[in-house]
Amino acid sequence: MRSKVVVGNWKLNGSLASNDALLKALLGEIGRGPGSIACVVCVPTPYLSQVRGLLVGSGVAWGAQDLSRFDQGAYTGEVSGPMLVELGCRYAIVGHSERRTLFGESDEIAAEKYAAARRSGLTPIFCVGETLEERDQGITESVLARQVDALLVKSGVAALDGGIFAYEPVWAIGTGRTATAQQADQAQGFIRERIAAKDRAVAERLPILYGGSVKASNAAELFAMANVDGGLVGGASLVATDFAAIWRAALAA
Ligand code: PEP
Repeated sequence: MRSKVVVGNWKLNGSLASNDALLKALLGEIGRGPGSIACVVCVPTPYLSQVRGLLVGSGVAWGAQDLSRFDQGAYTGEVSGPMLVELGCRYAIVGHSERRTLFGESDEIAAEKYAAARRSGLTPIFCVGETLEERDQGITESVLARQVDALLVKSGVAALDGGIFAYEPVWAIGTGRTATAQQADQAQGFIRERIAAKDRAVAERLPILYGGSVKASNAAELFAMANVDGGLVGGASLVATDFAAIWRAALAA
């Protein structure tokens, strides 16, 4: 059985003072250990050092929201996997839809970043998902297939072992509009079967999270679905009581 994972994505939010308050409140809510559920916060890069200081020794892990596909060299502004590892990161979000749509990241670049994360020992959280227009056109599955296949072609199915996927319908991110539990389960089942066609054992072991307006009020229903192995949480991860309630829902699922 796959254990659940709950990941917070702070996006471009935070300050030294608010991070301190948020993480202290979170640790107060969930105690020093997250039990059997992996609990992760992916924070803006400049705060990784501060976050490490606050979370080291706790059961909450930290990670990055992106990484370079390069390990070192003349790539101004980039942050590499080995640098993130030095700051204690264990996870990195890869191919988030905001990177894909606002910063022009292609399927191929996302796949290269996945490989870079694996090379440096980070657990990539690989995001896929369709836009509203694509869902309305009835091409959700072909979009997901294209995104998954780009990774399979670049890295091979064995590289998915030890990684994490997140299904994030773009129309549900930050909109307050959540996919129904059935919609999430169906899309995530499709992703799992796509990978199972290459290697069923890898697909069965792969945690696939749901992301898109996960809240304390809908987490339990989402996490009860067979193919939903936890959540990638944006807005609600900025409120300690909400994020802790989502973590508790995963623990109870
Ligand atoms: C996200 O940041 O990946 C996300 C799903 O955001 P939200 O929970 O705010 O929709």
